Amino acid sequence: MAQAKSSDILVIGGGVIGLMTARELASAGAKVTLVEMSDTGQQASWAGGGILSPLYPWRFAGAVTALAGWSQRAYPGLCAELFETTGIDPEYSISGLMILDPEEHADALAWAAAEQRPLEVLTRARMAEKEPELATDVRKALWLADIGQIRNPRLTKALRAAIAPKVNIREHEEVLELKAQDGQVRGARTKVGEIAAEHVVVCTGAWTAELLAQLGRKPDIRPVRGQMILFYARPGQIRHLTLFRERYVIPRRDGRVLIGSTLEEAGFDKHTTAEAKEELYRIATGLFPLLKRTPIEDHWAGLRPGSPSGIPYIGPYPGVAGLYVNAGHYRNGLVTGPASARLLADLLLGRDPILPPSRYTLDAPRG
Ligand SMILES: Cc1cc2nc3c(=O)[nH]c(=O)nc-3n(C[C@H](O)[C@H](O)[C@H](O)COP(=O)(O)OP(=O)(O)OC[C@H]3O[C@@H](n4cnc5c(N)ncnc54)[C@H](O)[C@@H]3O)c2cc1C
Repeated sequence: MAQAKSSDILVIGGGVIGLMTARELASAGAKVTLVEMSDTGQQASWAGGGILSPLYPWRFAGAVTALAGWSQRAYPGLCAELFETTGIDPEYSISGLMILDPEEHADALAWAAAEQRPLEVLTRARMAEKEPELATDVRKALWLADIGQIRNPRLTKALRAAIAPKVNIREHEEVLELKAQDGQVRGARTKVGEIAAEHVVVCTGAWTAELLAQLGRKPDIRPVRGQMILFYARPGQIRHLTLFRERYVIPRRDGRVLIGSTLEEAGFDKHTTAEAKEELYRIATGLFPLLKRTPIEDHWAGLRPGSPSGIPYIGPYPGVAGLYVNAGHYRNGLVTGPASARLLADLLLGRDPILPPSRYTLDAPRG
């Protein structure tokens, strides 16, 4: 067994949530170890689309909207800082989001008025001006001009590089068991040995319930598979984010175009399926016929950490002092990541929290 090495704080899981949490804690001067069972940033945080807004934001509980709003304000500064310190560009950009579902108009307009968010109803002519290659019968679209995106695989790479000088990162080391004694967390046992720590933060995404079950109580988090396909178009052919009937189109700066995503209950099975590929292809080429002349470059699946109403669990684990959870971000872990990490760090370090924490506890009602 490897020698136990003490750390103030052990963060388990190196997705966007674990990386951002480790970054917040290390910036406050804590001695942090991050342990990840494969490489950092290769699971849901790699597979996601990087849209920096909940889809149809008016459908979400205030608990999610509050995290998203805080993070949306933080993202430009965070990405600029990451680019400057690491040389890796997370490609933050304000792409604007066009929503084509006519039945959403009334709710959207009420939400925009209440939240004071810019929202415009575009006529057919204005839609064509903004997105000349879009083919649709829809006569009016919603336009959310301030919605941004990041290129999530680059974001996690930049986060890893930014924290590497300050955080002890241990990859390919699965945590098998959480260690607790007399109501106090002691660390974790990995396949390599024991890591002693005064505080442990569980950021294991879709795997969180399995890891915490041994302590008796577990959050209601389950894997929800999402598949995406990727085309390689020319830069600028598709200009904005488009959303229609729960499926979306994301153009990257280099011309790559992502279409996603499915919502499937398939346990921890991360295989892709021919049916999903066909469906996504049909939707993509229906909205943007130019994609018929563009080869599919990739097709993948990821496991979202699904939670009731998509409200993440952020805060202390009841009955075990020093143990914390930051998981269950479902479809919004990228857009809510910065606020979730800051809130968790505030709670663990005893600072004034950026948001009221009661909505995110293990016991909070989630509808
Ligand atoms: C297809 C798809 C599209 C999406 N689109 C968007 C979007 O546009 N915008 C948005 O905001 N969100 C989106 N999401 C959701 C977002 O990707 C997730 O909410 C977010 O990535 C969750 O981050 P995480 O760090 O909790 O999980 P993960 O990225 O899955 O990270 C958890 C990490 O924990 C590690 N781990 C697990 N168990 C252990 C263990 N026992 N020991 C050590 N390590 C362990 C895993 O290996 C993994 O690296 C999308 C997700 C999918 C799948």
